[in-house]
Amino acid sequence: DDPILSVDDVQVSFPVGGLASRSAILGVAGVSFQVRPGETFALVGESGSGKTTLARAINGLQEISAGSITFEGGRIDRLGKREMKPIRKRMSMMFQDPVGSLSPRMTVGDLVTEPYRIHGSDGRDLRAETERLLSLVGLPANFASRYPHQLSGGQARRVGVARAIALDPALVIADEPTAGLDVSVQGEVLNLLNDLRERLGLAMVIITHNLHVVHHVADRTAVMYLGRFVEKGETEAMFSAPCHPYTAALLSANPEPDPDKVHDRITLPAEVPSLLSRPSGCEFHTRCPWAQETCKTVPPPPGDVTCHFPLAPGARPPELESAR
Ligand code: SF4
Repeated sequence: DDPILSVDDVQVSFPVGGLASRSAILGVAGVSFQVRPGETFALVGESGSGKTTLARAINGLQEISAGSITFEGGRIDRLGKREMKPIRKRMSMMFQDPVGSLSPRMTVGDLVTEPYRIHGSDGRDLRAETERLLSLVGLPANFASRYPHQLSGGQARRVGVARAIALDPALVIADEPTAGLDVSVQGEVLNLLNDLRERLGLAMVIITHNLHVVHHVADRTAVMYLGRFVEKGETEAMFSAPCHPYTAALLSANPEPDPDKVHDRITLPAEVPSLLSRPSGCEFHTRCPWAQETCKTVPPPPGDVTCHFPLAPGARPPELESAR
């Protein structure tokens, strides 16, 4: 299948400083990936890694400074507001914060059919459409008359999902779809997204700071650090044997419960560097337990794993090895 979304060497820069010392920092520093119909791609990183900026760029809410974005065969990165409107029918965005993103004065029925009022209903019966959407996200039809404050966090998230799939988009971008939810409810929401992806043939981009959220839902995953991809590949392979030290650290931060596995917590020293002063060489070297002299000065070659010394499966941090 041809990709439905193709992001090619995209950069997003932000101006900093006053008039006298105007310069720019790169929030997204050249990333590429593709998503095919029916596929889920995950963008994972700590806050400030550039993942939300990238998602906003794809949705036309953030101008890009270099590269290109192609959706359903056409370039969309230079489109104006009006030209972007029909694209947003085909590509919907689920924002984080389940309750806060829903207008408190609208009923659930009004909320899920709002996209039709913005983009046109094409003659659809909105009452029937409300029922269809609520049923797709597993909510009873009588929820249509409720208000957001009468919903649990999980129910509010389901309403957000219903809004995102109204208009039958081809791609849904979900920003932190499970943030703020209890672990059991997180699983329900992820199952729902997976189910809808299969039933409706959707492509999805899931954005999260928690690598574990994507384990069972994303076909492929990219891990972002300071606006770049440090590791990109099949999700399953990344979980069983992370190659980049940063991926290994994120995985070790909250390991999945598995009595057969002993997890060595990889603690990352030092703060995330500022985008204003990117480290030289490998930009992760200030925090990497495996860093060597070369890493401080020589940037790793581009590729799916940007590291001079990719980890062998099951590698343990050097300080734990020497403590044996
Ligand atoms: Fe760590 Fe060096 Fe690899 Fe960067 S290149 S991730 S500092 S080992």
